[in-house]
Amino acid sequence: MPQWNLYCLRCDKRFDHSTINPHLDGAPYDPLWPPKPAFPEGGERVKCPLCKETATYQRYQLVYSAPSEEKRVPFRTDFRFTT
Ligand SMILES: [Zn+2]
Repeated sequence: MPQWNLYCLRCDKRFDHSTINPHLDGAPYDPLWPPKPAFPEGGERVKCPLCKETATYQRYQLVYSAPSEEKRVPFRTDFRFTT
């Protein structure tokens, strides 16, 4: 499952915020731009599981993370040069 991650403001490590559900509400799912979860006004208080620091995060700080086996190839690699 792809996930939303946050970078801890204190230790700068990445940790999971939430799992992205591709079939949420039957909305059209765009794997390149999945809908972000709603954050409360002013940000969401999240505790870093690594350093236990609680900080307020904003929605834009969510980082999309795809499992490696689902990683998209950014451009064609089946291209062959003919010489
Ligand atoms: Zn941390």
